[in-house]
Amino acid sequence: MVYRALIRSLLDFGCEAYDSAAQSIKKSLDSIQYQALRICAGALPLTSLDSLQVELGEMPLDLRRQMLADRFRQKIEMHRDHPVILNVKPSWQMELLKLQKNNKPFGCRTELMKHCTIEPYTIPSFPPWKINAPKVSIELSEIVNKHENPSYLRQRSLELISTKWPIQLHIYTDGSKVPSFGISSASFYVPAFSFQQAKRLADHTSSFRAELAAIVLALNWLENINVYVGIVIFCDSVSALLAIKDEKDITFVTEIITLSTKLSYQGKHIHLEWIPSHCGVHGNEMADFYAKSALQNNIEICNKLSFSEIKSIITSKYIKLWQDRWNNSDRSLRHILPTVNQPYECKLNRFEESILHRLRIGVIGLNLDLFRLNIHSTGHCNNCIGRTETVNHFLTECPKYIIERAMLLVETDLTHPQEIMTLLKLSEIVKQKAIVRFVLRTKRLYQNN
Ligand SMILES: [Zn+2]
Repeated sequence: MVYRALIRSLLDFGCEAYDSAAQSIKKSLDSIQYQALRICAGALPLTSLDSLQVELGEMPLDLRRQMLADRFRQKIEMHRDHPVILNVKPSWQMELLKLQKNNKPFGCRTELMKHCTIEPYTIPSFPPWKINAPKVSIELSEIVNKHENPSYLRQRSLELISTKWPIQLHIYTDGSKVPSFGISSASFYVPAFSFQQAKRLADHTSSFRAELAAIVLALNWLENINVYVGIVIFCDSVSALLAIKDEKDITFVTEIITLSTKLSYQGKHIHLEWIPSHCGVHGNEMADFYAKSALQNNIEICNKLSFSEIKSIITSKYIKLWQDRWNNSDRSLRHILPTVNQPYECKLNRFEESILHRLRIGVIGLNLDLFRLNIHSTGHCNNCIGRTETVNHFLTECPKYIIERAMLLVETDLTHPQEIMTLLKLSEIVKQKAIVRFVLRTKRLYQNN
């Protein structure tokens, strides 16, 4: 936290501009990151930078700079009158600069996301004093928790629907998203008309915006329908309803408010009500079913993506690049932590935490580490002739610590010493403490050879 607030923020500042500097100058920033991360993890001097970055979930600085520059590029493209827009527009000067090997300017270093169109800022078509926003109620979410027993949730929802909205026209909306493929869809279902409509949205639309899109679909349909009773739309996303209630500056919210204003002039008054999802309310289940089946369709609504959606695409692109680098690395930590961006969770005190970080990274001050520093002549274990003293040897093999190891096996319910290495992957405090106790019992780290 201290690193992110005090050091990373300074490294990030202006990086979109200074990223064109020479490699040797940028290298000095890497050493700042290295020193900071080493202090955070309590790691020893031989520890490698890439292991530290993965262990603590901090992206390499060169990738981070490129990621921030790409995000900034998208931001510029969103504002047509941005002061630096001319620096990123295609031109013959730009083509010439692209041929340059190093020190490329900002417009050549960054690129727009392919197949993604960004949403420009929009202004609502109604003046504020004519707006008639829909009435939003999330009262049920204040009484029940959505993780409670589904049959209880169903009971409470049906009770609310029948007592509060006995004669109104009911519409159920739902949005669906498969994050691994980035596809999403929106749907609504009207039980009284046995009518449903489901459409697939542009790829990478967030599930939050898919929920809003479903409400837009329902309101569009209502424009051409004659209804003489009140209309209530049931939605299962509290965040979407709160965004409408607070009239947030999001395109779909603006569209919902504009449409509901139009409808209110036609005498159709819209209420939005929250009900929990997946608890067996028939209309909600149907809307969910139609939304899921629309995921197979071709894209029907080419909605433009919001900045936060584009931002998450850019972030996952750079996390993937980081992952590729890590896959090609031969660090011992890779066997314990194969995926990047998943920092090791450890809630012990700093002393215990640094022992665990050192064990995981594989640099803890054993003879092998001393050998690398030219302090030890062979790097072999003091007790076992010809055996290199690695973390694996220390934890699982060395016969000198057989009693301490037996105690550790009892404490952690393991049967075989080889399984001890798997303990380093776990984030359970009991297991973490047991390992630290083992290290302290052996008194190995405080012996001078
Ligand atoms: Zn040994």
